[in-house]
Amino acid sequence: MIIPTQTLPTPDVTCSNCKACCCRLEVMIISDTGVPEQFIERDQYGGETMMRLNDGWCAALDRDTLMCTIYENRPWICREFDMGSDECIDERVKYL
Ligand code: SF4
Ligand code: SF4
Repeated sequence: MIIPTQTLPTPDVTCSNCKACCCRLEVMIISDTGVPEQFIERDQYGGETMMRLNDGWCAALDRDTLMCTIYENRPWICREFDMGSDECIDERVKYL
């Protein structure tokens, strides 16, 4: 029987069996955590977001390991994004 991903038990949802799906989302930078300048995109109003590259992923993601290269300085929104949360499941369903 095919089980919809949304109903998989939480232990099956881990970052190690994911492809950094949440690192394709737009990430606003709302506090200064020390994100390096080269990864910041600014709009005409001065709003800051994490830069994304043509493949859709955040510029700070290591494409080989799918790990965050600025983990200690990642934006607040990335810190608050919980593995196994509804938002996490939503992103996994889109890309896995
Ligand atoms: S938090 Fe969720 S969507 Fe993000 S990498 Fe981990 S399992 Fe994937
Ligand atoms: S800053 Fe790191 S955790 Fe946040 S989206 Fe980029 S790669 Fe993912």
